[in-house]
Amino acid sequence: MTNDSNRLRIAIQKSGRLSRDSEKLLSQLGIRFVLRDNRLIAHAENLPIDILRVRDDDIPALVMDGIVDLGIVGQNVLEECELERQADSLPASYRELQALGFGKCRLSLAVPEDESFASATELNGKIIATSYPRLLGRYLAGFNTSFRNCQLNGSVEVAPRAGLADAICDLVSTGATLEANGLKEVEVIYRSQATLIARERPFEPAKQQLIDTLMTRLKGVLSARESKYIMLHAPKDKLEEIVTLLPGAENPTLLPLAGQEGKVALHAVASETLFWETMEALKALGASSILVLPIEKMLE
Ligand code: ATP
Ligand code: MG
Repeated sequence: MTNDSNRLRIAIQKSGRLSRDSEKLLSQLGIRFVLRDNRLIAHAENLPIDILRVRDDDIPALVMDGIVDLGIVGQNVLEECELERQADSLPASYRELQALGFGKCRLSLAVPEDESFASATELNGKIIATSYPRLLGRYLAGFNTSFRNCQLNGSVEVAPRAGLADAICDLVSTGATLEANGLKEVEVIYRSQATLIARERPFEPAKQQLIDTLMTRLKGVLSARESKYIMLHAPKDKLEEIVTLLPGAENPTLLPLAGQEGKVALHAVASETLFWETMEALKALGASSILVLPIEKMLE
């Protein structure tokens, strides 16, 4: 079955680490929808878009088989699935449209705390528990190293203590889970974040046009996320120095301040947030009433 419906189908994770950010992003793109707990599909109210809510593991294949048009999934799951399908001679192509900046994590090798570890080559012939045997295999092949696979799709971190494996290769964000299981992280093999992918087969014009609109909005959401709206009162004679402290704010708006001859109000969009150090430096130059505000959307 392929997707020839006129409505654009987007697959997102139903419940898990990517769900909330995925749903929020679709809302920020101007898609209005109501999610009901037990429904697989949500129909957007204002655009010809259907949102499919599935296990994250199913998203790459749905896109690669062309059953959905777009998907939001972790690059780790995406690339593991791609390697697996290539090995099985199944369709494995897709287009990566945009990395999304959330769902960041790393896939790391970890060994029992009391074991020494100098290089990945030491793992040659060892049993490694992982849900990502293909990403791990590709990484270790770069060191002419092979491993024996203990495929676990959950509770990977208990495998060494349970005597099932010598090491593990698992997703890490803080390292607390590893520590709680007497393991130490020794090598990062892959860095991942959520990404927006599209099916390989070209879209009919109306769908492509909708995707183009969504992509323009997405760029706006992503650049707004990085930018901040800065407002401050600046002494006129220090304006130049103050502007050089504001990243990416070359053309600020200057407004007169009632009753204050020597100062102006400065408004600018900065390309990144201001750290405390920068705000303190601005204050030292005589700036006051410094405000740093988040920006919701941008269209340039
Ligand atoms: P599902 O029921 O949909 O299969 P899951 O349990 O496989 O869910 P989650 O734990 O929700 O998956 O993780 C989904 C994705 O979130 C991961 O594949 C990864 O890309 C990302 N992620 C971000 N941080 C972490 C983390 N600390 N641990 C695990 N995954 C993370
Ligand atoms: Mg999963």
